[in-house]
Amino acid sequence: MLRIRNLKCFYGQIMAVKGISLSVKEGEIITLIGANGSGKSTLMEAVSGILPSWTGEILFEGKNLKGMDPPAVVKSGISLVPEGRLIFPPMSVHDNLILGAYTMLKKKAREEVRETMETVTDLFPILKERFEQPAGTLSGGEQQMLAIGRALMARPRLLLLDEPSMGLAPLIVEKIMGVLETLRSKGLTILIVEQNAQAALSVADRGYVFETGSVVLEGAADELLADKNVKRAYLGKDYEEFDDENR
Ligand code: ATP
Repeated sequence: MLRIRNLKCFYGQIMAVKGISLSVKEGEIITLIGANGSGKSTLMEAVSGILPSWTGEILFEGKNLKGMDPPAVVKSGISLVPEGRLIFPPMSVHDNLILGAYTMLKKKAREEVRETMETVTDLFPILKERFEQPAGTLSGGEQQMLAIGRALMARPRLLLLDEPSMGLAPLIVEKIMGVLETLRSKGLTILIVEQNAQAALSVADRGYVFETGSVVLEGAADELLADKNVKRAYLGKDYEEFDDENR
């Protein structure tokens, strides 16, 4: 569904992604893990059309995304849930959700928007309860649900999430990951960038480990969860436990 070949991304003279290739098949949940600054968000920005300065190939359903701006990428079937959520705090929950359907509103697809709103609020009933409330008054977990709901309002086939667990309590993270599994069971394909490697690998099919702009390891999620280097670097296993396990 998504195929990236030899992607290099630039901020001026700086190359932040240094020739990455990866693929996401229809119906998969794929995660990108790695330390701060390893290029995960940059890759998401290139795919979603926010960062235009890249070389290589990003093919979505066979079509090259080169030169597409963010609205064109959304129209092609990809929505991003950005890092830090970026909801509009003074606007109501309802209006934040409607903004996600911006590309459809232009097509005057009002019935489609109404149906999608119903699907999203069935998935997150709390958003319906808070419909008229300013989005900024929601809890962190609710704001994350709103950000996911807003992305779903564009009816994507591929959902990109940049650090959905950031700043959330473990129980809420579990709930969000559960929602992603539900969405996958309904046919959505998902690519997640996560610092919380444990949470992401527990729902993902496969993963890629990033280090300073390159992929250093890739594999099935259960293999990565068991990998001693991944455990040591990203799963918070301390050296003592690491040593015990490897004696
Ligand atoms: P994090 O988990 O901290 O978000 P990341 O893996 O997503 O990390 P990126 O945000 O993609 O990493 O950053 C990759 C590299 O690009 C870093 O060295 C970062 O400093 C640099 N970078 C990111 N955004 C910019 C920018 N707007 N201008 C210049 N350099 C940038």
